[in-house]
Amino acid sequence: MPLKRPKAEPNPSSTSSDAVLRPSAKRRKSDVDPGTLHSRKVYILDAKLKPDEVAELVSLVDKAGAILVSEAKESEIVITAVGMRKRLERHIDWSVAKSKALVTPNWLRDSVQQGHALPCGTYAALASLHDTTAANCPTESDSDQDESSAQLSPPTSTPSEAKSSPSRANKEVEPAHIPENLLPPRVPLKTTPDLDHTVRFSCQRTSSLVCPNQELCEQLDVVRKLRELEGEERSSLSYRRAVASIKSYPRQLSKCDREEIARLPNIGTKISKMVLEYLENGNINEVEKIKASERYNALVLFASIYGIGPSTARNLYARGLRNLRDLEAFYEVNGPPVEGIEGPQSVEMDIQIALGLRAELAIKIPREEVELIHRTIMNELEVVQPGCVSMIVGGYRRGKSESNDVDIVFTHPDASKAIGLCTKLVRRLHEQGMVTHVMHLSSFHAHNALRTTHWDSLEKSLTVFRPPIPNPTRRRVDLIFALPETYWTAVVGWTGSTMFERDLRSVAKLQGMKFDSSGITRRHDSTLFYPRTEKEVFDMFGLPWIDPTLRNADA
Ligand code: ATP
Ligand code: MG
Ligand code: MN
Repeated sequence: MPLKRPKAEPNPSSTSSDAVLRPSAKRRKSDVDPGTLHSRKVYILDAKLKPDEVAELVSLVDKAGAILVSEAKESEIVITAVGMRKRLERHIDWSVAKSKALVTPNWLRDSVQQGHALPCGTYAALASLHDTTAANCPTESDSDQDESSAQLSPPTSTPSEAKSSPSRANKEVEPAHIPENLLPPRVPLKTTPDLDHTVRFSCQRTSSLVCPNQELCEQLDVVRKLRELEGEERSSLSYRRAVASIKSYPRQLSKCDREEIARLPNIGTKISKMVLEYLENGNINEVEKIKASERYNALVLFASIYGIGPSTARNLYARGLRNLRDLEAFYEVNGPPVEGIEGPQSVEMDIQIALGLRAELAIKIPREEVELIHRTIMNELEVVQPGCVSMIVGGYRRGKSESNDVDIVFTHPDASKAIGLCTKLVRRLHEQGMVTHVMHLSSFHAHNALRTTHWDSLEKSLTVFRPPIPNPTRRRVDLIFALPETYWTAVVGWTGSTMFERDLRSVAKLQGMKFDSSGITRRHDSTLFYPRTEKEVFDMFGLPWIDPTLRNADA
């Protein structure tokens, strides 16, 4: 996959990467200052807010010592979930709106949580009012702010579940006029609590992020990883399947559970022996050996570099490379500067860049930052093409507290406006200095029922993103653009986990269908199906609804 470097970029200081993860002294405050917003006049526009959200915001206004006013024009700060000018103008005069700071509800939540009023710019409810919002921010002005105040909340803080819930995070950027079927359901769907854990496919079962036998799953996953790195696909898949079966088992296993283990799907004699060994001794001899082996550790390290797959990793090992220093010397990371190199680049060059970014990209992304990145990108997208819909998918949507990257699926209700958007957005983000590298840019292809790989034909861009905050850590951000009719297959396909997706494709295949992120095809006549909601994807294959947080079929 080509990894293009759009242009030379400034070198971040070496200390910058963890700075963003460290709260400023101010931010460590866990208690709310009674005067967070001391006598500031706040108006809450209740359009698009649920009654309980309005109640929550009103109580936050009180907590912060601000004054709730009943008319937007009397306020200094307007809190609103409305993201579109047209919709806003139904409630507030445009001239009034331009004279206030118009922020999303998260501005209030974050300000109260952090014990001081945050700058408004990043929280601008409408991208087109970003500048006036920043200028009218009655707190620390965005321009002369204490830079640290634009940082994220500390990872050690415990933001309320509600604040970090995917639906809340995705909601504030939804435009007002989008068709109901592109919105998440108003009332979250419930997963049947006691689905049979012995069924064959992981997409028919529930798998929580951390399961009662988590450590056992992680041990078996070491063997899975080694087999994968050694190119032993079939064996690796057996371990992946076994792990997925144990992930769905509802109780902690003990050594007396021989029969239970025998009933689990996808666990043969060899792996069940390992399971019993773990239950007897608390560890598995083979796993201990693998973890201690130089080869395994070197292969894991090499393959962690974007662009190095298992077979390159093995080649590097065969050439005698063992550690990061060897790798850097091999690819001359500290050799000739790579800045400013234009045009097609060799795989080696991609790897050279990826190696240079390795340390930064290895830092995990807390949920709050995932949300900030999403909000920032949506503000830019609103400038490029107003009215888009989006959802954060990937591990974030499955409930991970920290992610390796940010995955966002977008669409526009009007298909003609969705086409070509990926390129436009990435160009804009690059111009704004936010996208520093693009790893892969594809455009819409006709859906091809004959493709054999599971990679979809959606328009997507795998980027390296620099959040517009002080001392940013660069992050991997995957931007996936779907046409409105493939939005829900894209959401399902990019929510994961990997094994869940694999089994979904297997279930589809058994029914003579083909599932991927860009649509569902009936194999015999290539008829395309476009589910109108996420649940319809499950219904179509006769699968029970599984909440995204219960799709963690991988270790
Ligand atoms: P984390 O990012 O924290 O490592 P994740 O589950 O989000 O965890 P990703 O690699 O970001 O992992 O992938 C998210 C999901 O998107 C995967 O489960 C996979 O199903 C899907 N996916 C990833 N890459 C592609 C791709 N190129 N085409 C189609 N689907 C993909
Ligand atoms: Mg991800
Ligand atoms: Mn991703």
